[in-house]
Amino acid sequence: MVYLDYSATTPVLPEVLDSYIKVTNEYFGNPNSLHRLGSKSKELLTSAINQICEILKIKSSEMVITSGATEANNMAIIGTALAHSKQGKHIIVSKLEHDSVYGICKHLEDNGFLIDYVSNNEEGVIDFDDLKKLIRPETILVSVCAVNSELGIRQPLKTIKQVINKENPNTIFHSDMTQGIGKVALNLNDVDLASMSSHKIYGPKGVGLLYKKENLKIKPIMFGSDNDLRPGTPPLPLIVTFAKALRISMLDLAKKEEKINKHNIKIINHFKNHTQILINKTKYSIPHILNISLMNIKPETFIHALEKHDIYVGSNTACSKGKISAATLNIYRDKTRALTTIRISLSHLTKNEEINLFLEKFDLIYNRLLELK
Ligand code: PMP
Repeated sequence: MVYLDYSATTPVLPEVLDSYIKVTNEYFGNPNSLHRLGSKSKELLTSAINQICEILKIKSSEMVITSGATEANNMAIIGTALAHSKQGKHIIVSKLEHDSVYGICKHLEDNGFLIDYVSNNEEGVIDFDDLKKLIRPETILVSVCAVNSELGIRQPLKTIKQVINKENPNTIFHSDMTQGIGKVALNLNDVDLASMSSHKIYGPKGVGLLYKKENLKIKPIMFGSDNDLRPGTPPLPLIVTFAKALRISMLDLAKKEEKINKHNIKIINHFKNHTQILINKTKYSIPHILNISLMNIKPETFIHALEKHDIYVGSNTACSKGKISAATLNIYRDKTRALTTIRISLSHLTKNEEINLFLEKFDLIYNRLLELK
């Protein structure tokens, strides 16, 4: 198998899966139970939470475990909207967000909030002048993803935060860091709220977290216990193994990126043989995500043809399959280009032989499909 869809999800690392099984078997007591089994689980829970906090350089009071990034985005954006609606009902988001953010915005719009979409320049970076113009006294939140899931465009979060603070120090800054964490160095001090997910960093599915700067008020969107943004029994095996996956994902970031960059360059150089294929990439795209447009071939046809050779690549994003690539349209303003994208997402686990096999089969399928035209 050649798996090149790491931005959709990653396989769970064997050592992470081992821990999952061990914790499930040996720590099945509810961390909230008063007896010894409960205390044993509670101890492990506290140690996993402390580990996550140490890695992210945050306090345990600044972190909420969620089921993933979609839930963290909901908690962050709706929670802020509910807590700060007296100050204003105006929210700004970028045009390069994940669908989950747009779904939340639509819900808020239906409930009396006003959403503005800040422009970006031709490289995909937020247009600071437009952001300045849009921020007003009633702006309660700005949400900009750290790395776009389709073209891998990375945003300068620190500068965005500075612009926001200058225009309105009361405006809260949220960033969906799902595609950035474990790939590039990110600093949670640059934001007030952040979302992330375990299954993008070789951890299990069904767990993620929301970072919430100390003393920042957001309202809960789930209810069930006192003083808790996320009530319910803590899923201990998920939390412990998320902590482990997070720790491993942060090791040797630069070395891993260098390796991934070599694969990325090799693929791009190869595609130069196919003059009709377009590379959708700006100088702010991280090498882990390589987006191309087939132009005169349907991406679904291509993806299924590759699948027959046990090779797996993505369409634009896993969550918006079959739809137009909003990020490609935004950058290139070309509908055909945006309707024919394939996302090749790479990992430090990707081997040279896998890239070779992918390129060989790519050519085979591409030439055959071109002949059929
Ligand atoms: N945000 C971004 C940028 C993503 O890429 C994804 C996953 N495709 C999500 C949010 C949703 O994450 P989860 O699957 O953990 O809910």
